[in-house]
Amino acid sequence: MDLSVVIPVYNEEQSLPELFGALESVMKDNGWDYEYIFVDDGSVDRSLAVLRELHRHFEYVKVLSFRRNYGKSAALSVGFKQAQGDVVVTIDADLQDDPMEIPSLVKKLGDGADLVSGWKRNRQDPWTKLFLSKVFNKVTAILSGIRLHDFNCGLKAYKNEVVQSISVYGELHRFIPVLAAWEGFRVDEIQVRHFKRKYGKSKYGRKRILNGFFDLVTVMFITRRAMSPLHFFGRIAIILFTLGAIPQVYFLFQWLGGAGLRVRPIMLGGFVLIIVALQIASIGLLAELISARSGGDPKYVFKEYLVGRSGTHVGENRENV
Ligand code: UDP
Ligand code: MG
Repeated sequence: MDLSVVIPVYNEEQSLPELFGALESVMKDNGWDYEYIFVDDGSVDRSLAVLRELHRHFEYVKVLSFRRNYGKSAALSVGFKQAQGDVVVTIDADLQDDPMEIPSLVKKLGDGADLVSGWKRNRQDPWTKLFLSKVFNKVTAILSGIRLHDFNCGLKAYKNEVVQSISVYGELHRFIPVLAAWEGFRVDEIQVRHFKRKYGKSKYGRKRILNGFFDLVTVMFITRRAMSPLHFFGRIAIILFTLGAIPQVYFLFQWLGGAGLRVRPIMLGGFVLIIVALQIASIGLLAELISARSGGDPKYVFKEYLVGRSGTHVGENRENV
């Protein structure tokens, strides 16, 4: 199969028929062999009924339905597991993404990228959200070292291998390009059109975008090779310790030179910094020990795994070397 389209759905009953029509015309125009995987994320409107109906008429419409709302990450993650296509495309169900962009994303994959992410250059959302997402994208780009403008676009294309290699849970769907890039996949970006929400309401308001910043810290740590807790906390501790120690050294020399040892605010401040630094270093050490003792072996993603051909014995192989 050429293409699997994974669509997370949470209360999008009105958008679904239109979305399906638009997707169908793109798929047919390109002559692809395709499937749709709709993941109903515990909708409480008629979304599931609409999807059931589509499934009844078209055998290439697959529907997975959660009993409750687990969030977009969970929906994508089960959709990915189900996806059979060589290429996997994700698109939001709310008609804000343009299915007509899918061919350009897929073409870019052909040019050697493993993941192509949409960039909503003219994003059609309220300004508060635009502002927060600008900050979020900048911070994520700086901290992750991955130069994208838009990490959290619903419209993306992946080689199947990518979606099988990353685990997207919690609210980590915002960081899919980071997770993929850190596994060694090539990530690219193209500009895509974006529309205003036509029906229904956004599920990710200003409040939820704040979580994105906390999740960034999580992402830094869970991809263990990126940053170990002790390296992270240790750096902070060294900076604070140094800042705290400088005045002490200065006052020490003054004291050796015969000056009286009076109570000095800067000296007290310095001591506080030193104590805080030691605490932070110990927290880092604890976190390091906990992470070393849990989780078992880390998961490694292979590009190739060439270990002998079928029909040859290990002994024979060795003789040939
Ligand atoms: N979505 C989901 N589960 C959720 C929230 C959202 O599956 O808990 C889906 C939603 O139906 C839509 C996509 O994720 O297809 C993006 O959500 P939304 O449009 O609300 O986000 P926004 O575009 O406002 O950032
Ligand atoms: Mg939307």
